[in-house]
Amino acid sequence: MTRPIIPFNQPHLSGKEQEYILAAVAENKLSGNGRFTKQCQQLLQERYGFHRVLLTTSCTDALEMSALLLNIAPGDEVIMPSYTFVSTANAFVLRGAHIRFADSRTDHPGMDEASVEALITPRTKAIVVVHYAGVACDMDIIMDIVARHGLKVVEDAAQAIDSFYKGQALGGIGHLGAFSFHETKNIQCGEGGALVVNDRELAKRAEIIWEKGTNRAAFWRGEVDKYNWVDIGSSFLPSEINAAYLFAQLEQLENIQNQRRALWQWYADGLRDSFRDGHLSAPFIPDFATNNAHMFYVVCRSLDQRDGLLAHLKAAGIYAVFHYQSLHASPYYTKQHDGRNLPQADRYSNCLLRLPLYVGLGKEEVERICQTIRNHFEQ
Ligand SMILES: *Cc1c(COP(=O)(O)O)cnc(C)c1O
Repeated sequence: MTRPIIPFNQPHLSGKEQEYILAAVAENKLSGNGRFTKQCQQLLQERYGFHRVLLTTSCTDALEMSALLLNIAPGDEVIMPSYTFVSTANAFVLRGAHIRFADSRTDHPGMDEASVEALITPRTKAIVVVHYAGVACDMDIIMDIVARHGLKVVEDAAQAIDSFYKGQALGGIGHLGAFSFHETKNIQCGEGGALVVNDRELAKRAEIIWEKGTNRAAFWRGEVDKYNWVDIGSSFLPSEINAAYLFAQLEQLENIQNQRRALWQWYADGLRDSFRDGHLSAPFIPDFATNNAHMFYVVCRSLDQRDGLLAHLKAAGIYAVFHYQSLHASPYYTKQHDGRNLPQADRYSNCLLRLPLYVGLGKEEVERICQTIRNHFEQ
């Protein structure tokens, strides 16, 4: 008997996406910074207390805007975890920065905050934290370091919508924050993102960089009588069609989050025995962090064990996936890396496995996945 395949991810339609897209089409104003873009930005600002939000076509774009805003230039150094997505690093490498990679924590794939200060040199300009799986880095430690050294912090909050550090929304703590609304994230519009500007001094320039280096946004508000080329910039605005889709998702955020958290808890319950028996490690959530149920991952004991489990799941029609390969050891960057071993980043590269988690996945399917994993270890 073959059972239905369970994909790793399936984009969820929350209800009003098509209606809002048709409304955007009917209004016939499809370029960026229109009604739906403003509604998305306002919703995020009000819900999370962000100073300024600018929608972008991706989190990659928001990170690139951050590098522009911080005037990153050749010779500058930027500190970030090795265990992250390429865009976290690329955004700064594009401006000529040298990346100093930090290792991950032993209890969590996020950056080991205690290792960061030793990486600072006179050339360091910024620290980029990544809230892996939507679980906060210990931001008090990071903000204390940057205050003492006069640096800036960018939060790569791509996975961290609706998650908090000691009650503060992630993305809203550093000088800048970047969210992703890629199809694989909790709230999505296919390809999309947002830059959060928390440092008020950067807000005006952020809008100019966003608008291709012009003061067009100020022009539309009637603050200047013509718009001009006033700075560097690029095309970072999404179309109103994307924003319309995204607004439908944002309106349903609570509902989506409740469903994702239930799925996450079913996994935690279903795999309790495998964690207790030491076959796998469970995801760790520090006391200072919340869980936004972006991801349910397990950490295997070795690469061989992970490959065996992956193959066993695949044979049962269940598509689990591993995640990042450490950037310090990547084909592109290994020669530029300063040679330090980052054993925890390598361990997560080899041993971490992500399980299917999307709205629409049923409790029976989660139970089937957990049962398949338990069977693998009982063999
Ligand atoms: C998804 C992701 C990105 C990239 O997001 P895009 O919107 O696809 O550009 C960057 N960083 C992290 C940590 C991510 O998970």
